[in-house]
Amino acid sequence: MKSLCVYCGSSYGAKPVYAEAARTLAKEMVDRQITLVYGGGNVGLMGTIANEILRLGGEATGVIPQALMDKEVGHKQLTHLHVVKDMHERKAMMAELSDGFVAMPGGIGTLEELFEILTWSQLGFHEKPIGVLNVDGFYDGLIAFLQNQVAQGFVKANQAELMMHEKNASELLYRLQNFVPQPSTKVLDALAAKTLLP
Ligand code: AMP
Repeated sequence: MKSLCVYCGSSYGAKPVYAEAARTLAKEMVDRQITLVYGGGNVGLMGTIANEILRLGGEATGVIPQALMDKEVGHKQLTHLHVVKDMHERKAMMAELSDGFVAMPGGIGTLEELFEILTWSQLGFHEKPIGVLNVDGFYDGLIAFLQNQVAQGFVKANQAELMMHEKNASELLYRLQNFVPQPSTKVLDALAAKTLLP
């Protein structure tokens, strides 16, 4: 894995442990010579991880829409900064530039990015690994909700497994680097379900 897209909060969150985890992830990436691809902001955990990557001598590529650049939240010292038209172009470029994806703790924007890339994966549009860094149990509720979606028949167990999760950055990177993609069955599952109830 040469490049990793990290989705994370534009806020710091309520506890210092989130920023500490962002710095630890940055170190684990630099140690493995993995470059950062992210949303290009210099705010919250986004800024924390980018600044730590750069401080440790790694490379950070940002992809930011013009509208956010105009609001001066764009990071000016990145290795590369792509200014794009809108959020759709941004997410497509972040996905294109990356060999895998990690969601750190974050807000609505982080969840939207995570679930879009999971959706593309379950449909077989890409075969890149996806994981959440479950810092201090931040994602426990989401992991439980996904299991409820499986129990209620809206998500297949193998689709839920596309969202790997670990509390520790090193273990998560290990799993991402050793990920073996399985063929997508989502469309076939839906066709098969047409013959079932109701
Ligand atoms: P949130 O989790 O709601 O804080 O949003 C974080 C995600 O949305 C990041 O991964 C970015 O891609 C995007 N985003 C939200 N706010 C900003 C911002 N002020 N500057 C740059 N990107 C942002």
